[in-house]
Amino acid sequence: MAKKKNTDSKELFAEFPNLYKVSSDDDIDTCMEFAEDYKAFLNVSKTEREFVITSVEAAESIGFVDIDTKENLEAGDKVYTSIRGKGLALAVIGKKPAINGFNILGAHIDSPRLDLKPNPIYEDEETCYFKTHYYGGIKKYQWTTIPLAIHGVVFTKDGKKHEIVVGEKEDDPIFYITDLLPHLGGDQMKRNASEFISGEDLNVIIGGRPISKEDTKNAYKANILKFLNDNYGIKEKDFVSGEIEIVSAMKARDVGFDRAFIAAYGHDDKVCAYPALMALFDQEKPNKTCVVLLTDKEEIGSYANSGAQSVLYENFMMEIFAKQSGEAFNLLSYRKCIANSKMLSADVSNAYDPKYASVSDARNSAYMSHGIKLEKYVGSRGKSGTNEANGDFVAEITRIFEENSVLWQTGELGKVDAGGGGTISAYMAKHGMEVIDCGVPVWSMHAPYEVISKMDLYCTYLAYKCFIENI
Ligand code: MN
Ligand code: MN
Repeated sequence: MAKKKNTDSKELFAEFPNLYKVSSDDDIDTCMEFAEDYKAFLNVSKTEREFVITSVEAAESIGFVDIDTKENLEAGDKVYTSIRGKGLALAVIGKKPAINGFNILGAHIDSPRLDLKPNPIYEDEETCYFKTHYYGGIKKYQWTTIPLAIHGVVFTKDGKKHEIVVGEKEDDPIFYITDLLPHLGGDQMKRNASEFISGEDLNVIIGGRPISKEDTKNAYKANILKFLNDNYGIKEKDFVSGEIEIVSAMKARDVGFDRAFIAAYGHDDKVCAYPALMALFDQEKPNKTCVVLLTDKEEIGSYANSGAQSVLYENFMMEIFAKQSGEAFNLLSYRKCIANSKMLSADVSNAYDPKYASVSDARNSAYMSHGIKLEKYVGSRGKSGTNEANGDFVAEITRIFEENSVLWQTGELGKVDAGGGGTISAYMAKHGMEVIDCGVPVWSMHAPYEVISKMDLYCTYLAYKCFIENI
């Protein structure tokens, strides 16, 4: 018979404490400082294109170079490739041979928003509007009566790229979607919340002055077209090639007297992309090659050549494999390298919200400020569509987190059959690597202004760093 161990019964229980409760004042100060850098980065990286530009600048400043400029890769080399300007793949080459596999962090840098339709400008009753088509899962009514900014690019026939950002500077105008006054909203308020603002009603006010005092047709639209042509050199037809996104004009700001939380546009998923990037930037000569994949189009299914399902991300890893191993490329060897690879699918998830407790199982929820959330599976209705992480991999992750004092918690997105969601993990797991979802818990996820905890942000950075250094 096995010898009975003297275990304190308290040790048998799973505990996931609030990090503000169990951290030293110095550690909390470090979290607060990290949050300041994150807010500054986020404020200039609201769209996927901007996030790529900011990240490449930051990467180049510490020695990263385009992978095309390298014939061979050696330990300590830092490389990146832009995925059509809307996604980014970066790596720091490790000391071990590539066949041992890569340590990968994958996050997405697109966020829910309103995109312009290809023929967006119209005039109605002396007001000029942009017509939009929403991108990702949104509650449409949340986008009315808030300050909006326009971010994007338009390509003219000569191939020139025109960048437009309006609504971010203090003295910039903002853009706006009206709602009905409550005095006349009786009928509207009786409708379902999903119906009281329709997709076709998400029209953004962009002007209200005529081009001249004369009674000319389309005078208000003409005035806007003239403004756009004078300032950006574009004509109405050029919007067909445009990628213009309407996002919240609000800056990232602390929430609460004690500044425990941050509200911002686009935490999903830049609040995981940023710490992933910072964890990679800490690497000089890691044991295994460390890779960060920042993908586009996650909010609409990871399609397109910039989404996680695109082979362009795989091409990057293939190129690293080939250039690091220095031998003639062998597909089977590459596939074995990927099968030996391990990945954290770095994405946000729901944080338990006591106001909306009915959608969550309180025993299987992540809580604000309790650390990075490990999610063994996502999906919906009987785990449909999920990548489920293998138990031995989950045990390996929790072991290295605990050995390195990284506090983690676990949970599902919500109650069984209450809904569900997906991430990029399934698309990566299909190549054979071990993958688990883990990231920062969020309140008001997918709203134009979402909330996260500063402790969870920093804890997530520590977890990603711990993973790529120790797995
Ligand atoms: Mn996400
Ligand atoms: Mn999302």
